Amino acid sequence: MTDTYDGPILDNHLHLDPEHGRGIDAVEDFARAGGTHMLVVNKPSWMIAEIPEDEAIFESVFETTIEAVQQASDVLDGRAWPILGVHPALISKLTGRGYTPEQAREIMQAGLDIAAEYVADGPALGLKSGRPHYEVGDPVWGASNAVMQHAFELGAETGCAVQLHTEGGEDFTQVGAWAEERGLPATQVVKHYSEGRLDGPTKSVLADKDELEIAAEIAEPFFLETDFIDDPDRPGAVLGPKTVPRRTEWLLENGHEDAVRTAHVETPASVYGIDTEATL
Ligand SMILES: [Zn+2]
Repeated sequence: MTDTYDGPILDNHLHLDPEHGRGIDAVEDFARAGGTHMLVVNKPSWMIAEIPEDEAIFESVFETTIEAVQQASDVLDGRAWPILGVHPALISKLTGRGYTPEQAREIMQAGLDIAAEYVADGPALGLKSGRPHYEVGDPVWGASNAVMQHAFELGAETGCAVQLHTEGGEDFTQVGAWAEERGLPATQVVKHYSEGRLDGPTKSVLADKDELEIAAEIAEPFFLETDFIDDPDRPGAVLGPKTVPRRTEWLLENGHEDAVRTAHVETPASVYGIDTEATL
């Protein structure tokens, strides 16, 4: 890291798979590069276990993530937190198995209900939901929006943020309004894999220099993320664990001290209620 910066560096969205992937090795890489905090999102259930035809599968996926987070916290100068939920593409896996979109919606909402218990009872910091990033038919699109709205209700009840996986784009004001209607401030909805510009939710910008430059100049709240997937079958499919610390250094070298503070201190505090400086 630069000699002058000794503040927190948070990766807002990555995955860890100690059993099949690099696991704690990846956390050590992140820490050596200057990273201090991370939000670890559970892998899609079908990548770790089977298609969840009963709720026990969600529980085992969440427990795996919580365990990985505890191990990561031991390595980090700061700490890690779990973000738990249901990947929106599960709906296609389920309908591919013969479930109707309505039945798939119920299974996915049940998974979110379990995730919300982990938030209410302690270890998890927030929820993960969304809708498919690819073309789907109207029934699946409708059921997916209903699942996402259910996540907003749970976020409002539990008082936690909801990370979203969605299609690309910049105008998500409708989605933000759905959250607000259910009592969850749009600012507590976080669009993962965002570009530099976004209307509605809070953006979590993939650590790409061009998009980061845009986000830094707009001076709205934002996060930085890699979406590191820790999948040995897809090395290099996404950014590696050192990327957020390196991009932070690059921001500092380019005079964006304010953006660094926004991404690693102020936005984490306002969206999740976490204090990345006190936990350093
Ligand atoms: Zn992800």
